[in-house]
Amino acid sequence: MKSLWNPAEAKQYQSDLEQRVYTSRLLGREGSIVLHGGGNTSVKIIERNLLGEDVELLYVKGSGWDLATIEAAGFAPVRMDHLLKLARLPKLSDTDMARELRIATVNPSAPAPSVEAILHALLPYKFVDHTHADALVTMMNTPSGQERVKEIYGNTVVIIPYVMPGFLLAQLCYKEFPKQVNSKTVGMVLMNHGLFTFAETAKESYERMITLVDKAEKYLKRQSAWKVAIPKIKVTKDSRLEPLVAETLATLRRDISKLVGQPVLIAQHDDKQSLAFAQHEDVANFATRGPATPDHVIRTKRIPMIGRDLESYSKHYKKYFDKLSKKSRQPLTMLDPAPRVILDKELGLLTVGKTATETKIVEDIYRHTIEIISMAEKLESWQALPDKDIFDVEYWDLEQAKLRKSGSSPEFQGEVVLITGAASGIGKACVEAFLKRGAAVVGLDLSPSITTLFSRTDYLGIVCNITDEKAVKDALQKTVKCFGGLDMLVLNAGIFPASKMIDKLPLEEWQKVLRVNLDANVTLMREAYVLLKLAPKGGRVVVNASKNVPAPGPGAAAYSAAKAGLTQLARVAALEWGGDNIRVNILHPNAVFDTGLWTKEILEKRAKSYGLTVEQYKTNNVLRSEVTSHDVANVAAELCGQTFSKTTGAQIPVDGGNDRVI
Ligand code: ZN
Repeated sequence: MKSLWNPAEAKQYQSDLEQRVYTSRLLGREGSIVLHGGGNTSVKIIERNLLGEDVELLYVKGSGWDLATIEAAGFAPVRMDHLLKLARLPKLSDTDMARELRIATVNPSAPAPSVEAILHALLPYKFVDHTHADALVTMMNTPSGQERVKEIYGNTVVIIPYVMPGFLLAQLCYKEFPKQVNSKTVGMVLMNHGLFTFAETAKESYERMITLVDKAEKYLKRQSAWKVAIPKIKVTKDSRLEPLVAETLATLRRDISKLVGQPVLIAQHDDKQSLAFAQHEDVANFATRGPATPDHVIRTKRIPMIGRDLESYSKHYKKYFDKLSKKSRQPLTMLDPAPRVILDKELGLLTVGKTATETKIVEDIYRHTIEIISMAEKLESWQALPDKDIFDVEYWDLEQAKLRKSGSSPEFQGEVVLITGAASGIGKACVEAFLKRGAAVVGLDLSPSITTLFSRTDYLGIVCNITDEKAVKDALQKTVKCFGGLDMLVLNAGIFPASKMIDKLPLEEWQKVLRVNLDANVTLMREAYVLLKLAPKGGRVVVNASKNVPAPGPGAAAYSAAKAGLTQLARVAALEWGGDNIRVNILHPNAVFDTGLWTKEILEKRAKSYGLTVEQYKTNNVLRSEVTSHDVANVAAELCGQTFSKTTGAQIPVDGGNDRVI
């Protein structure tokens, strides 16, 4: 562990608060020190208010901010005098504490202060840093944890036994810290939780953190227990299982979604490390002792599911809740009994979340957990906190309050849509429309630009020639590996050949148009069916056909015939799949000019040939209104939503009104 302090970089951060921002980000850069909000920092500053009074404020990390990317606005300024008074109270509930912290915050638009604000306040140093470094967590979660801490740090740290984070911890430190502190003290170890360092400058507090973590890492190295390889075993992958993996995963996703009460995403990780851990002969033993630190429980649940027996996992969870909720002072609402981490011999590591970001966070946390458990096992033996302590964090007041509030989530949260021809035009607009409504989106296109269309966890772009059956199957497998299943399919890809009369139409050209605009969609629908059937809220298919179906024009025989065939295919699918709760609907857009096909020159030429201006040509419909690709995309998305939940087999024009269609 090395200090990342860079004097040239640091110079750009002048004030105390800016320095606080700088070293917080340095801590955040190192995943083995802090992970996804799992640490916090503060600085004490005296400021003059509008009344001309000097007020001492604790700028402490606000909730919802990550140290890696924090800015000055991510720190909540809380009055020190109030915090110190709170520390002296004989008791304070979490809800009351959260309210008091809010009241004492002098900036109404600041984020909610960290629940460790009182603890930061009572440490008598200007800068305070707190992390959950892997090396410390490893060492502390072994039977001889405390002796090891003493052996490494001697009397340079204050040692606090484990107690629930929040007010209880602040109260204990308030009593214990003055008893143990001495002239050599540079930090404070919270058993089974993490590490504090402090100093008068940002640099010193940060570097003390690095030094203390480095000592722990070196200690583990000396014991040959640092970054240990997962016990070498032969990783086996059953090739016979491959084609079934997608269906197995989608089935699991449907069942977990049912337990959660809303659709969830699952990400599959079958890399060597994940498989080796999942296939370890003792995994059911050491992976079910508890999380690396108690705060992980909110993301990962107390223990992973080993294998795929969901029923026994949820029964076990209910038992755990029944046993421990009895000891609670107030009635508690049980959280869903579904796992967030699954270790399966064949599938590897699966991470579950309501959004793609959540599955990623769970993955990051669990990858660290795998390392921590492996190191602790090598060092001595992995020993997590008793289930009661984990339960207290999982069910603490503030988390329960969040449940009661339950805001509305985006319409397609936890759902997956696959869109073809997604790199431009209507397809790209569909990607945006579905992302906006909370879906995880897979975009297929021939163009390589599809892979970089968006850089976000809920988007996957795959280069795919949809007329290639194998490529289509691969794309569906990738979809399931990334998000766990498929709920919606938007068949948008198509080609529009140059105008040609039938007497001049070569068979190859006719066949090429049919292959892309019709045949490819048969493959996609056939291969996607098994997945759509497993969609937690029912499958949905939207077919992008054409105005040319109800009102064809001369010179577009192949295009019109293919789209008419596609329309008929979709109508039959609506009949065949209705019993599986899959809805299939058809759009007939017309004259969508904001796509790559229509350059300014082509538009001008066309308009002129009709004796119209470009503007008149674009709005040449009953409503005199231009139809954009976003108009079409929004109808496609709405068709998949609740509003149209009773509609299947419908054909909807998106054309501004066409007198031939009407
Ligand atoms: Zn902590």
